[in-house]
Amino acid sequence: MKVFKEELSLDALRAIQNERLVKTVAHAYNNVPQYKKKFDEIGLNPEDIQSLDDIHKLPFTTKEDFRKNYPYGMFAVPMDKIARIHASSGTTGQPTVVGYTKNDLDVFDEVVARSLYVGGARAGMKMHNAYGYGLFTGGLGIHGGATKLGMAVIPVSTGMTDRQITLLKEFKPEVICCTPSYAQFLAQECRKRGIDTKDLALKYAVLGAEPWTESIRKQVEAGLDVKASNIYGLSEVIGPGVSQESVDEQGTGSYIWEDHFYPEVVDKDTGEPLPYGEKGVLVFTTLTKEALPVLRYWTNDICSIQYDENSKLPYIKMSNIKGRADDMLIVRGVNLFHTQIEEVLFKVDKIVPNYQIHVDRVGNLDTLSVHCEVKEGVCVSDEVLIKQLRSELRMKIGISCDVQLVSPYSMPASQGGKVQRIFDSRNIY
Ligand code: ADP
Repeated sequence: MKVFKEELSLDALRAIQNERLVKTVAHAYNNVPQYKKKFDEIGLNPEDIQSLDDIHKLPFTTKEDFRKNYPYGMFAVPMDKIARIHASSGTTGQPTVVGYTKNDLDVFDEVVARSLYVGGARAGMKMHNAYGYGLFTGGLGIHGGATKLGMAVIPVSTGMTDRQITLLKEFKPEVICCTPSYAQFLAQECRKRGIDTKDLALKYAVLGAEPWTESIRKQVEAGLDVKASNIYGLSEVIGPGVSQESVDEQGTGSYIWEDHFYPEVVDKDTGEPLPYGEKGVLVFTTLTKEALPVLRYWTNDICSIQYDENSKLPYIKMSNIKGRADDMLIVRGVNLFHTQIEEVLFKVDKIVPNYQIHVDRVGNLDTLSVHCEVKEGVCVSDEVLIKQLRSELRMKIGISCDVQLVSPYSMPASQGGKVQRIFDSRNIY
């Protein structure tokens, strides 16, 4: 399952990447009108891309391209070749729809299997998969990779913490996969119930889908008696398993499976490629995907990439995600733009378009509180209004939040420049 450095030189890796890149570019140009349009607009021919040295000539692909072509317009194969469809939750607007051929699913299984392996999992172990099953790529993505690795998958999905704990105690999985915040929560709940980690068989936790820190790692490792590692990915590129931290090389970054996903880090304002080690926006070009080839996909995630001379595997590593290039918040695993909140607030009669979003972490759970300025004559303890706002916000953003009304003119308003709307006190970056 592992490919060691001695078995794959950088030159050999580059040769594989170059060949795959040329094929992917032609495939995207010939089969996805959006790519053809973008190439034609700048007078670029697929033949202009002969190797990775030419990659910077390609225009970036963004979430907007997916949205404009919702649902299937970015697919490069006919629907009868699609074996599975996933979508992002849609909390950030129009959901991004992604498709996989059978071959793509094999690649997905392969990269997740590799990830779980370097995260400590082995054939014969049991995997407690607490990622959400459904349109979200996490549940089925981990499931497929764990199966490929030869594990027994326990497909628990999210929620129902009581049941999760019972299963951890009784089914005795050695590996758990979930978001880091949920792992923290589970650890806390076990402690609360007086469950000794000796009653569990857990050894490894492979955690991802949201940013996390060393302090969260410490809490999870102590609370569940595991070694925890980071898994990263995004639907547009494939799902989880784009990169993975080795459990033996904790804190040194996550290996990017760059024989399938070629990474670049670019300046967030100019789009210019940055040298290894410098932080910028992570951009991916898929090298083997059939249904949904993506060329220079702008992830909006901020990190740096670098080869690590002490690493065992031949692939480049990415640092932990420091945050998003824009204002996107991730609250309890849900991606959130302040504009979504705005959309709700601005339709309500009794408040003025001035608001603040406060995010914090209480215990292990993110809290979200929206402060809104009321119109003159409206009472700040108007319970009916608070209830209405809470319920409309929940419907729009998919998670519950607190609402506080503040008196007219009490909140700093725009002086012509940008107003700070988001106050994130979680210190997770
Ligand atoms: P959506 O864009 O709807 O959230 P995804 O589930 O594909 O859809 O989310 C991918 C995003 O989740 C990534 O771009 C990144 O911002 C975040 N993410 C995933 N894994 C990690 C991780 N290990 N660390 C930090 N952020 C992560």
